[in-house]
Amino acid sequence: MTYLDYNASAPLLKEVKEYIVSIIDEYGNPSSVHTSGRKAKNIIEIARKEIASLVNVNKDNIIFTSGATEANNLALNNYDVIVSSNIEHDSILAKENIILVEINKEGYLDLNDLENKLNTIKSNQSVLVSVMLANNETGIIQPIREVAKITKKKKFCLHTDAVQALGRIQVDLHDLGCDLMTISSHKIGGPKGAGALLFKSKNNIKSIIKGGSQENNLRAGTEAIISLAGFGKAAKYCNIEKMTKVKKIRDFFEEQLLGSNIGVTIIGRDSKRLPNTFMFGFPNVKTEDLIMALDLEGFEVSSGSACSSGQVEKSKTLMAMGIEEEIIESAVRISLGDYNDEDDAVNFTKKIIEINNRYKSFL
Ligand code: PMP
Repeated sequence: MTYLDYNASAPLLKEVKEYIVSIIDEYGNPSSVHTSGRKAKNIIEIARKEIASLVNVNKDNIIFTSGATEANNLALNNYDVIVSSNIEHDSILAKENIILVEINKEGYLDLNDLENKLNTIKSNQSVLVSVMLANNETGIIQPIREVAKITKKKKFCLHTDAVQALGRIQVDLHDLGCDLMTISSHKIGGPKGAGALLFKSKNNIKSIIKGGSQENNLRAGTEAIISLAGFGKAAKYCNIEKMTKVKKIRDFFEEQLLGSNIGVTIIGRDSKRLPNTFMFGFPNVKTEDLIMALDLEGFEVSSGSACSSGQVEKSKTLMAMGIEEEIIESAVRISLGDYNDEDDAVNFTKKIIEINNRYKSFL
């Protein structure tokens, strides 16, 4: 199988696996004062330091969670009004009282619309603007520094979901001008079930899970030390320089597909995008059929977001961008990582042409 779905989940790094195996027998509760407890606590603190240095925050400004879904819920919990957009992860869009800002044809948040919408909000309300750093479906990178300037003019708080950006582009909470940031372990080669909310000030956070003083009184419950340890190790091995090679392969994929003469459209090709991601569509084959046909041919791709129901849904990002229906209905996402190479692009394109010919003959 050729795995082309790193944005859904990345394979566990070998260094992470080795480390997890080496500590798997640590049974102490990190809140216990005895030796085993202190050992477990130390494992978590090592992970915290690794993550802190990757994203340029103080290690005390990290709340470990069960993943980015929880971290996003926690980020939003303290506010009366959320300002966001339709291209965000469902863990943002599930919140009530969301004001949605338009997305333009290039896939960026419409900054004029953001400013106008912020101006309509009454000043006695607590407001959080939540804009993802990079979109999970198209890879398009949002103009977060400009968003920060507009948000700060109104003295509102800014949260960014940096789940897809981490490990692929520079991610620095302070440099980006954000107050809160969400990250996830399994997108960077760590285990599932670990994530974090990074914060500038504790005052911006209201805990959801209560009943213990773990994580600075902000997230109760005995810590998942093995997952968190793996998260820390994955952060240690995060290296965006590796993305130079991945981007070359991504660009080669796109060239191969565009050269296939079957009418391929690459979404947001001229927009600023993550180096590992692209989304494309072509007439004749619907997304669901294409994903299954490719799976049978040995290629694992997705429709965009890894839908929790397991069904293929139309991409909400493409709909928000106003992409033509024909492209939306055939769009698939390719997201690459360490284990891909140029042969994958050649073999993939061959299969796409074959599948296209097969479907075309039925039309
Ligand atoms: N935000 C984005 C942008 C994502 O892509 C995902 C994962 N699909 C999440 C949040 C949720 O992450 P987790 O699986 O860690 O809950």
